[in-house]
Amino acid sequence: MNQLPPRLATLTESLDSLNVDAFLVTDEINVRYLSGFTGDSSYLLVTPDSATVLSDGRYETQLASQCKELACIIRPPAQLLSDLTQSVLNDLGRKRIGIESDHFSLSSFRRLSKVCPELHFVETSGVVERQRMIKDDGEIATTRAAVRIAERAFQSVLPVLTSTWSEIEIAHELESKMRMLGAEGCSFPPIVGAGPAGALPHYHPGENKLGDATTLLIDWGANYQGYASDLTRTLHRENASDAFRRAYDAVLEAQLAAIDAIRPGAAACEVDAVARGVLDKAGLGEAFKHGLGHGTGLQIHESPRMSSISEEKLASGMIITVEPGVYFEGDFGIRIEDDVLVTETGHEVLSSLAKGLEESRFIL
Ligand code: ZN
Ligand code: ZN
Repeated sequence: MNQLPPRLATLTESLDSLNVDAFLVTDEINVRYLSGFTGDSSYLLVTPDSATVLSDGRYETQLASQCKELACIIRPPAQLLSDLTQSVLNDLGRKRIGIESDHFSLSSFRRLSKVCPELHFVETSGVVERQRMIKDDGEIATTRAAVRIAERAFQSVLPVLTSTWSEIEIAHELESKMRMLGAEGCSFPPIVGAGPAGALPHYHPGENKLGDATTLLIDWGANYQGYASDLTRTLHRENASDAFRRAYDAVLEAQLAAIDAIRPGAAACEVDAVARGVLDKAGLGEAFKHGLGHGTGLQIHESPRMSSISEEKLASGMIITVEPGVYFEGDFGIRIEDDVLVTETGHEVLSSLAKGLEESRFIL
């Protein structure tokens, strides 16, 4: 067997401490991260010196180009993936098999235990996800591109808005622009909330028209080559209330202070506390109803979670969002979100869209 690619080599180094001599990767995203294979319905079986993709005939050609360095076993149409897995495991000559208990169903686990009576299955949690927290240079470059696409799409949509545009039309336009700029699509369904709709943190854009609104919250991101960007801007019109303006300045101050606290070794909960402290002081603590942010990568929400109950410490190579927000039912919501890379000496904000109060206007 040739030497394993770096991500797989890193995983094999943890097999001893997990007390397993093989590891069955069943989560599609983790399979992709470790093998480069972008298809579905496939598992990856890793031993200290080998990695084998278990897949089916639909993916034979794709695997030959995406996983040149890995062994592949293709099941015939009449064989289930679970049956192939069972036979490969029984022939493997390894006794202790790690499984991803966060992603393997209880019924699959029971079945596999029954048909492989000689083997011992060890439940593991978050093994590959912890590895995924630290991005390599390629992942950082891809995320930068995902951020850039989202920003360009936003900048091209803003000037064409008129009072008859609805939230859903803005969402569609953003997606269309991001695709034209090279994205595979949105990294999540965009949130576009005009006026009071902005007060619903996970609102689905609807028919509200811009002409009826004085504030506009847009949370969007691009999926570029599998990697997500995630940004939020809250815009206002000339006639926005003083309450909105005061709250906006406080949210921005909270966001900038939290970003400033990002460095290797900082506790995620402490960075969350910095933002919460600023908003508490402004009398808005109660209105900040969610955690500060989250990691991004192959998924829009990854570890580390940036919240008051997070036990993670930040490390160089993590990419996290910083997105404090305040929400006032029936009135308005404000959230400002940027994507931040933790560097060896501190941090780098990957996004660069203007966010000062006066720069954050929408003009119809
Ligand atoms: Zn977001
Ligand atoms: Zn986010």
